[in-house]
Amino acid sequence: MRIGIDLGGSHIAVAIVSKRNTIVAKKEKDIPNIQNIENIKEFIVDNIKVLIREVLKEVGAPSCVISKIGIAVPGKIKDKIIYDMYNLGIKELDLVQILEEYYNAKVNVRNDAKCAALAEKNIGSLQSYDDAVFLCLGTGIGGATFIDGKMLEYTKQNGSEYGHMIIVKDGAECKCGNKGCFEKYASMKTFKKGIIKLLKLDEDTSSEKILEILTNEVNNKNEEVNRYIDQYIENLLVGISNIANIIQPEAICIGGSFVYYEKILYTRLIQKINLGKYNCNMPTIVLAKLQNDAGMIGALM
Ligand SMILES: [Zn+2]
Repeated sequence: MRIGIDLGGSHIAVAIVSKRNTIVAKKEKDIPNIQNIENIKEFIVDNIKVLIREVLKEVGAPSCVISKIGIAVPGKIKDKIIYDMYNLGIKELDLVQILEEYYNAKVNVRNDAKCAALAEKNIGSLQSYDDAVFLCLGTGIGGATFIDGKMLEYTKQNGSEYGHMIIVKDGAECKCGNKGCFEKYASMKTFKKGIIKLLKLDEDTSSEKILEILTNEVNNKNEEVNRYIDQYIENLLVGISNIANIIQPEAICIGGSFVYYEKILYTRLIQKINLGKYNCNMPTIVLAKLQNDAGMIGALM
């Protein structure tokens, strides 16, 4: 039995993934504000074990049937050890060894955006493109690059860190230490934060609720909201056009929680591109097909 784990900046998902890459059973848990968690490493390890126990229970299987575990993480990987999970406040974590010892199974770890990208390339929206870029718009912005059908993979670094491409000189401070990074302007975390501020919503408003409120405001032609969305799309397009000019991919696939805002964000993005301002070298922009399951599926590829 194969277990896929997606450790995100704000939630953990665990699934049993079939050999045909379908999700058999899935359990998820939100990670509350990390400032309120005493020991974040312990919190993550404990919750992964709980979620694995729950998915196995759902199909009535014991833990000894686990043959392989794949983990998608928001950080860098060197010699199977995870480093720099900025959004979780973790500098270093040897999750592979912990899970290998506990489950006596083979465990692989890979950067989350690379996992989702592999899933989209093999069974999702990028199947028909040889040269492509995957952008994961979530808590931050992760990325992956495919040239001639193969994903660029470095032995010592992640590479394709498009989220930390600087798009504003001396701009907003990023957790990576630089200022003006793409993800400080175009991640979904940034987008939602801005909406919460603009509409004076509660800090803890769920993503579903934000989407519902936002849809109403857009339908009611709230000008301030529309201006805010346009500004967000402009920032996103600066990053996309930089990537388009440097990599010149046939397609850019956007995944992460951005996919849930198809009508509000994706449609407007395509409209803006079609207006012609960025038409030069602009690749086809597609939405991720596997949505948030891509990380768990790709972690086992
Ligand atoms: Zn940065």
